[in-house]
Amino acid sequence: MNIVLFHGKVDTTIIKRGVFKIGNYDLAIIGSGPVGLFAAHYAHLHGLSSIIFDSLSEVGGQPQMLYPFKQITDIPAYKKITGTDLIKKLTDDLAGETKIVTNHKVEQVTKNSDGFTIDNSVFVRSIIIATGAGAFKPKELPLKMDEATKKQVHYFIKDPKEFAGQTIGVFGGGDSALDWALELSNYANIKIIHRRNQFRGLESNVAKLKSLKNVEILTPYLPKDIQMINNQLDVSLKEMGGTQLRNETFDQIIVAYGFKANNRFVKKWGIDLNGTNIAVDRSMKTNINGIYAVGDVVTYPGRVPLIALGFGEAQIAITAIMRDLFPEKTLTIHSTSM
Ligand SMILES: Cc1cc2nc3c(=O)[nH]c(=O)nc-3n(C[C@H](O)[C@H](O)[C@H](O)COP(=O)(O)OP(=O)(O)OC[C@H]3O[C@@H](n4cnc5c(N)ncnc54)[C@H](O)[C@@H]3O)c2cc1C
Repeated sequence: MNIVLFHGKVDTTIIKRGVFKIGNYDLAIIGSGPVGLFAAHYAHLHGLSSIIFDSLSEVGGQPQMLYPFKQITDIPAYKKITGTDLIKKLTDDLAGETKIVTNHKVEQVTKNSDGFTIDNSVFVRSIIIATGAGAFKPKELPLKMDEATKKQVHYFIKDPKEFAGQTIGVFGGGDSALDWALELSNYANIKIIHRRNQFRGLESNVAKLKSLKNVEILTPYLPKDIQMINNQLDVSLKEMGGTQLRNETFDQIIVAYGFKANNRFVKKWGIDLNGTNIAVDRSMKTNINGIYAVGDVVTYPGRVPLIALGFGEAQIAITAIMRDLFPEKTLTIHSTSM
């Protein structure tokens, strides 16, 4: 189901991709990471109507999906803020300001005389691409599962408290797996399953997990089969390099095998890439008039992949869009005067 946030309310209208007609906007923002979300707010300050698309079921990009509980300490005016809290604040700021369409990977952008049509559905006068590392898709647990089983296998979690008192299998050996295991260990019993004896994540996190009574570390094992038995997930694990098989039972499974992502799809829209990123000029404009790009998706000499820098890029892009769309207007730059 697609969740549409509009005027700050959650509207659970089902919108089928390619079929819906949701109107005309001054600006489409592709990607609801922190930079896309801020771009929408800044566009609103300038009086632009906007629509945001994200391919995932949740807004928030990397902070929400990859490090929701980590403290970010380099966002101006916040000494520290978690990934998930930052996204909440950016989203709350958008109440009534924009339309957000999730579960929608933008596939097609067609130029026409006054602007662009997105996926044959929405007409916009300008576009900001804020797709970060790309439309990331979690690497799935490589086991055959029926729909009921899939419901207990997760790739993102919104609220770890939902799993309070349960037994959770965390599959993976990188930073995300360790972060999830640590956070969930505050509420649930954890078994971490990794195919190597060594973890790729922070050694201090491994040490912390090893010290916890409600955490068990099972290595080196690979999952081989999964069955639903009495509403629980029964997973058969095979020892790597050995023959031993053991079965473990979980209430829920979190898969932290990483993500696949790329931005090559923008080439279909005629956008020039420099390596895997979008080349932009000093106003964040791509090679196509009316299409701008901001955040981690862009490249230029000296760029660093930081959220605060992306916020500044969004301000540059929106200012340029205002000049494109309203060349006759004297532009007000400071929000204090808007
Ligand atoms: C572990 C980790 C820790 C970090 N710590 C910090 C830190 O402390 N400070 C800091 O400043 N930065 C940090 N970063 C970097 C920061 O997260 C990124 O710079 C930031 O997320 C970039 O934001 P963005 O909006 O450009 O892209 P993203 O956050 O990558 O969001 C892009 C969004 O676009 C969507 N999308 C992609 N393609 C499509 C499509 N075709 N259609 C629709 N939607 C699409 C994706 O689903 C995604 O939601 C960290 C990154 C990681 C991985």
